[in-house]
Amino acid sequence: MLKTIKQWLSAATDMVMPRVCPVCGRALDSDETWLCRQCLSRLPRTRYEEVDFNTMEQHFAGKVPIERATAYFFYEKGAPYASILHDIKYHNLPKMGRWLTARAVHDMAGSRFFDGIDAVTAVPLHRSKLAQRGYNQSEYLARGIADASGIPYIEVLKAVLPHSTQTHKGALERWQNIQGNYVLKKEAASLAGKHILLVDDVITTGATLTVCATALQAIPSIKISLFTLAAARLD
Ligand SMILES: [Zn+2]
Repeated sequence: MLKTIKQWLSAATDMVMPRVCPVCGRALDSDETWLCRQCLSRLPRTRYEEVDFNTMEQHFAGKVPIERATAYFFYEKGAPYASILHDIKYHNLPKMGRWLTARAVHDMAGSRFFDGIDAVTAVPLHRSKLAQRGYNQSEYLARGIADASGIPYIEVLKAVLPHSTQTHKGALERWQNIQGNYVLKKEAASLAGKHILLVDDVITTGATLTVCATALQAIPSIKISLFTLAAARLD
């Protein structure tokens, strides 16, 4: 009975203020959560987790030691699936991200990608950015993985300088600018000898993940794997 009332209310809300699929713009059915069934089934998966020494892992080779890396789906700037990332980051819909990464854990179950991982953490936002946006989208993504896998979420890194001035700088300057932007929190001490999964929303150049993973390297005998919700084509 309760479920029926809930479904009825949800259907009534949809009539007044229809929820739409961020990818195709179609109104969602009451049983569709964030994306319509069709766009979800056509999600351009990378399936990196099914490949040994995949393109994303190759990208970090020689930069920072990592165990495994994967991204859930490919995106191209301006393409329909990129709107998911935009909504998560700027349109106050981080819960959609949390739902998607929980889904990713189930989708990737056959790959054993999450096996042996002791803790999940997120690329942090500087507190001024956090105050402006109100949330860290990567934390929601990491928590979605924790929800679905049962692996605990932990905050290990702290951003010490804002990223906001980097947009117009060249690659080298940008690189130098983010070096040293992340420091370890005291909670990091508990991770000695553990395997941690570092989560971010997207990978484009990989610069942010490299700098964060390098900071995590200061933890004795740490193993680091990487997960992003989306990846620009890296090859
Ligand atoms: Zn759709």
